[in-house]
Amino acid sequence: MGSRASSLLREEDIEEIKKETGFSHSQITRLYSRFHSLDKGENGALSREDFQRIPELAINPLGDRIINAFFPEGFAFRLYDLDRDDKISRDELLQVLRMMVGVNISDEQLGSIADRTIQEADTNGDMCISFSEFIKVLEKVDVEQKMSIRFLH
Ligand code: CA
Repeated sequence: MGSRASSLLREEDIEEIKKETGFSHSQITRLYSRFHSLDKGENGALSREDFQRIPELAINPLGDRIINAFFPEGFAFRLYDLDRDDKISRDELLQVLRMMVGVNISDEQLGSIADRTIQEADTNGDMCISFSEFIKVLEKVDVEQKMSIRFLH
């Protein structure tokens, strides 16, 4: 509260967005106010929860999938979850790994990569990677990357 004014769209921002997107002034201000009405956390970003409050998505049976598609981690998860049961099995991991690495790695090596990945990610012991387990792995990777960047500089 109270910081509302500082988050208002400034003329110079509008000009910049106009140049970048080709949208008109009124389109940008309309989109901005729509964005603001969706951003209940008022942190300048739309979270998963903000999306879930959109009534049209809340009643849509595919709502969760649509929301996930907006988030990079959701997109990556869908890439692996080939049968769309919201879990990544060892088989699915193997299939995607095989597509990514091509033919230079043997099935045995791929199998042990898949096993190791599942072992590391699977916290509830069902031998699959759920979406929340997947997110945790990504967060860990992110932290490790940030740390390695810090060491490099
Ligand atoms: Ca699956």
